[in-house]
Amino acid sequence: MENNLDPTKILVIDDEKSLRDGAERILTRMEFQTLKASRGEEGLETLEKESAAIVLLDMKMPGMDGMEVLRRIMEMDRGILVIVITGYATVETAIEAMKQGAYDFIPKPYEPDQLRIVVNRAREKILLTLEAQKLERERRRTLSDLHTEQSRVHTIIESLPNGVLVTNNDSEVVLINPAFLQHLGLDAGLTPGIKIDEYINDSGLCDLVMDISQGKHIDFDDIPAYEMSPEDGKYLLARCRPVLGERGECLGAVVNLVDISAIKALDHLKSEFVAKVSHELRSPLSTIHEQLALVLKETHEGQSENEQHILSRAKEKTFGLISTIGDLLDLSRIEAGIASKVSKPVQVETLLKDIVDFLGTRAEAKGQTLTFETSNKPLIPITADPMALESIFGNLITNAVNYTPDGGKIDVKAEVSGNNIRVVVSDTGFGIEAKYMEKIFERFYRVKNDKTRFITGTGLGLPIVKGIVDSLDGYIDVESEVGKGTTFTVILPTKKTSTSGIM
Ligand code: ADP
Repeated sequence: MENNLDPTKILVIDDEKSLRDGAERILTRMEFQTLKASRGEEGLETLEKESAAIVLLDMKMPGMDGMEVLRRIMEMDRGILVIVITGYATVETAIEAMKQGAYDFIPKPYEPDQLRIVVNRAREKILLTLEAQKLERERRRTLSDLHTEQSRVHTIIESLPNGVLVTNNDSEVVLINPAFLQHLGLDAGLTPGIKIDEYINDSGLCDLVMDISQGKHIDFDDIPAYEMSPEDGKYLLARCRPVLGERGECLGAVVNLVDISAIKALDHLKSEFVAKVSHELRSPLSTIHEQLALVLKETHEGQSENEQHILSRAKEKTFGLISTIGDLLDLSRIEAGIASKVSKPVQVETLLKDIVDFLGTRAEAKGQTLTFETSNKPLIPITADPMALESIFGNLITNAVNYTPDGGKIDVKAEVSGNNIRVVVSDTGFGIEAKYMEKIFERFYRVKNDKTRFITGTGLGLPIVKGIVDSLDGYIDVESEVGKGTTFTVILPTKKTSTSGIM
């Protein structure tokens, strides 16, 4: 029952004019707008047109009697409150009227106060009812807004080209969109409800999502992006984040899955191009370098000092170019997964000793101490390509020498750790600012500051190191403090466990 009743309007239906006028006087003082009718039919007609909320109804009238009028008002079902006016002798009528739905009754003749009390009560009831109706309308509107909002968000998530999956903190899938199912080639009829590892056949991703769902990664920056290749030529990148509640508690995890196959293909083309160009450039450059060396040697006497200087600079520069090209080719081979063709047991201790001995001369020239020590446990050989291992540690120790000022200290330590070999290269050098920690593993990235400006390099050493470490299923970590030094830790399994790709 919803209507537009006006609580300031009251209708008096009474056949006695004096009683109608008397009631009007009292009600007008109560700030009502009083409408009057002398007969039942007239009263009903007034109600059709006017929105009176209360009716004062005389029971005993000629023509349509009060009871009939009451019945018709009730039939209107508009929430109008009817106060019936009955004579002394008609208590039963009053009871009957109440049964029919009258709100209250006043015996005749009544005192003004009696009328005021009863009408006031009715007015309050009407105001309360209207207020309740208003609240209900608002509640319904909020609910419907919420519903519209929810369905809008739902539609957006359903039509996103990126895969979206949400879990609760029991790692149960609570939302999965069609793109997610399609990216992973899952059954389109799959609906949310069960644990993530029952949907997804990739233990790495499942473990990561489960860890996040259980609140193990509250710090967003900590969470690595996860790359996977569910089928040949298809690459997906999953970024996972915890869903946090108002108090920062973990409610679950959300996974955003992006198809990066095109980027990968482009990357592959780029690598191929770089490899081709590098390859083409290497031989002529090597020839130029050799010829420059020859010219410098043979015509030594006939040259002015300036000419010799120019030729030496040209020779140095060509050498720099040749080593950059060498690095680029190494990197391309690593990315193509063909860097470590040879696989044989390598004595890490001997390998490291040789590198340290070789670089010892360079360190000595800078007045640095370069030490090597192993734990008392004999090191287990690593099954890998010796050239690849040499590349890892050669690069790390060369960097330590290069980025440590004269008189500094470089320590290389190797030890057995379970089935792995851990090698730590630490220096007392310039250190690396935290914001560059990730960047230094990117191709061509070099930190440029007052200390490093004059150190030559290609920015390819660490990407090569990382590429090889990854291809060996190893792990590399760096810790550094500006002005104090840097420590690179490499952990390599003595035997490669899987045949997964690189980077
Ligand atoms: P390159 O040494 O040829 O510049 P790398 O890829 O080997 O290239 O290193 C990238 C950058 O990382 C370097 O330019 C340097 O700024 C920083 N870096 C690497 N190793 C160290 C180190 N031991 N101490 C300080 N900075 C380092």
